[in-house]
Amino acid sequence: MFYNELKELRDNQTLRHLLDHLNGAEASKIMINGVQYINFASNDYLGLAGNAFISDALIKSAKKYGVGTGASRLLAGGTELHVELEDKVALFKGTEASLLFNSGYTANISAIPAIARDGDVILSDALNHASIIDGCRISKARKLIYRHRDVGHLSELLAELLAESLTESTAKPATKKDGRRYIIITDTVFSMDGDIAPLEDIYELCISINSRKKNRNPILLYLDDAHGTGVLGGGKGALDHFNIKPEPWIIQMGTFSKALGSFGAFIAGSRDVIDWLINRGRGFIFSTALPACIIAASLKALELLEKEKKLLNKLWRNRERLYKGIHEAGFITTDTETSIIPIIPPYPQKKRLNDIKAVLKLSEHLFRNNIYAPAIRPPTVNIPRIRLTITASHTYKDIDKLIELLSVF
Ligand SMILES: *Cc1c(COP(=O)(O)O)cnc(C)c1O
Repeated sequence: MFYNELKELRDNQTLRHLLDHLNGAEASKIMINGVQYINFASNDYLGLAGNAFISDALIKSAKKYGVGTGASRLLAGGTELHVELEDKVALFKGTEASLLFNSGYTANISAIPAIARDGDVILSDALNHASIIDGCRISKARKLIYRHRDVGHLSELLAELLAESLTESTAKPATKKDGRRYIIITDTVFSMDGDIAPLEDIYELCISINSRKKNRNPILLYLDDAHGTGVLGGGKGALDHFNIKPEPWIIQMGTFSKALGSFGAFIAGSRDVIDWLINRGRGFIFSTALPACIIAASLKALELLEKEKKLLNKLWRNRERLYKGIHEAGFITTDTETSIIPIIPPYPQKKRLNDIKAVLKLSEHLFRNNIYAPAIRPPTVNIPRIRLTITASHTYKDIDKLIELLSVF
């Protein structure tokens, strides 16, 4: 079964497999087949996944609430911790309300189809995360892709759409009671490139369109802040990074699974948006509520994030050291501004190798020297790369060892 399909993957060197590894408590270390490696592939940016205060909070609440919740939130699966976390997230993000989802993936594939209905239009960045792409596929809305981070292209597409809708509405009134809705969707930090969406320009574009009286519906801006949460804006996320106030027409998705070292996700927005998701978010309605002990861990992680500014400072210091070292060793990266630092070909000494081969060779070279930095290949990305992630758990010694190995590759 699937012989030919798998063979094709093997032949073009894109077959992936799971490694028998043991992810310990520390973000910067990983055990693979009994050998320890320095891990440059964890999204646990602040090293909170192994934090003892967080695991203590989890154990304590598991003893009180048990593990499984036994039902969805709409039935009997919720606890007072779920509500406490939602209130805390809303306060943290400065929104009216928030809603928990079982994962970032679930949040996107549930919220996007709920918000973007048949007859609506989605405008999506070309490099958005797979979970956004899947959410768009499930939605019955029309989808338009704008070039990566290209606000000029986005505004052209919007201008065309708005002109179209004007001629339409004079010919025949919109059938939906509240008219067509436009939704711009973007990652805040792009997960495979580490670059940041031009949110100031996107925000200005939304403001300029939303201030026109003719549009009955404001343009909605849906942000996937999976890699911004806990990292940008002093930990508060991408909007804070750009000093943008949350508006009722901005919907923010964030996860507890990356910098917060826990599990699950949230959507923060206006009360109306959250109420709508409670009623129409299928991954919220038809899935068992997150365990209360996971919620307790996320609550503790948020508390630590606000208290322990050291971790965030350490993350950014490490990030600067690694980024500088990579460039000094003659390698190039994507336009990254964050803790995701992908090294892309051509590599200084290996110009004749094809890109996939070069990336695999570099990954193997690092692996032989006890550094885990996996190659990311098509179809996950167009340009093959070593996607490094740096965390607050790494030491300068870890970073310098990686840079040294790059310079002899
Ligand atoms: C990881 C990720 C998700 C999915 O979050 P999970 O909680 O791991 O399911 C969604 N969007 C982006 C941009 C991500 O990087």
